[in-house]
Amino acid sequence: MEKIPKKMQAVVLMGPNQLETKEVETPSPGPQDVLIKVNACAVCGSDVSLIEKPWEAQPPYGSFIIGHEYAGTVSAVGETVDEFEVGDRVAVEASYGCGRCRNCRHGNYTACLNYGNLKRGHRANGFTTNGGFAQYAVNHINTVHKIPDSIEFNEAALITNLGCILYGFQTIGGYVVGDQVVVVGPGPLGLIAVGVAKALCAEKIFLVGTRDSRLEMGKTMGADRVINVNEEDPLKVIREETNGIGADLVVESSGNVRGPQMAAEMSKRMGKILLVGYPEEPAAVNFSLLGMRNINIYAIRGEGWANCARAVSMLSKGRISLMPLATHSFPLANVKEAFKTFTERIGGAIKVIVHPNEV
Ligand SMILES: [Zn+2]
Ligand SMILES: [Zn+2]
Repeated sequence: MEKIPKKMQAVVLMGPNQLETKEVETPSPGPQDVLIKVNACAVCGSDVSLIEKPWEAQPPYGSFIIGHEYAGTVSAVGETVDEFEVGDRVAVEASYGCGRCRNCRHGNYTACLNYGNLKRGHRANGFTTNGGFAQYAVNHINTVHKIPDSIEFNEAALITNLGCILYGFQTIGGYVVGDQVVVVGPGPLGLIAVGVAKALCAEKIFLVGTRDSRLEMGKTMGADRVINVNEEDPLKVIREETNGIGADLVVESSGNVRGPQMAAEMSKRMGKILLVGYPEEPAAVNFSLLGMRNINIYAIRGEGWANCARAVSMLSKGRISLMPLATHSFPLANVKEAFKTFTERIGGAIKVIVHPNEV
């Protein structure tokens, strides 16, 4: 068995916009935890946001190891753990609910009412507890999923993204076979939403965006019709190509302040809107339109309802591939370059992966 070093390298948030790679104590697993040797940890828009401005219940600067999208190998197990063995290849999800609040008791652990309350047992690795931009990370077993050899670590690091979209599709009712689906915003989640809609047999999938390279990727993920808003009016195209009816489902993942209203205008009567991207400023939406057309809006946060397990299942059956999205990777020492590549989309970057144990 490989010896676990007492110290490890980790990316610590020292202050707003201050990331530092430094040596820290290697954590040890509690009775229901596993220690994971992290192979791959992906950069996410949420990381960028909380690096800029602290999120709710974030650990103090100087001790907080960020990163919530990661995968690796189990290198030690807690004293009660027999679900996992050293050497298992695994991927993680961020949230471990307290298990004792009303939402957790109903299975809604990503909406835990004790969010950030460590004493009551809630953890969200990379948000309220330490995460995966480190050589090792500790996870409660409920947040860990075994992955088959057919899933590469770079792809496994993205299961929370797929889990999040599956949770969204579950929330809106799950069933889009035969539907007209519009996805607005070809970011990582939007692109995955295209792939999920495809796998679930939507009739026609429209993808709306501004960048041709992202729209091309959308075609790879399964979009039937891409609309560049700089060249075409998306409302007109969708009206025309749905026989004047509108979309059954609009996935709003642009995070644009005009996104929710545009989604409402694209919806058919009795259509559904799934909000995945959120504008920073309050968005204006015409509620009369929502009411008169009987449109429902759904919002999701995180990868609830064990949808990461479903994500692993979907990936291992080859019903979707996230590999085209894993465009760039870097060793831990180059973490700042990794973030820059992600935020500035250098070289057409979509998802950027850091390999903490690569020197
Ligand atoms: Zn994320
Ligand atoms: Zn809870």
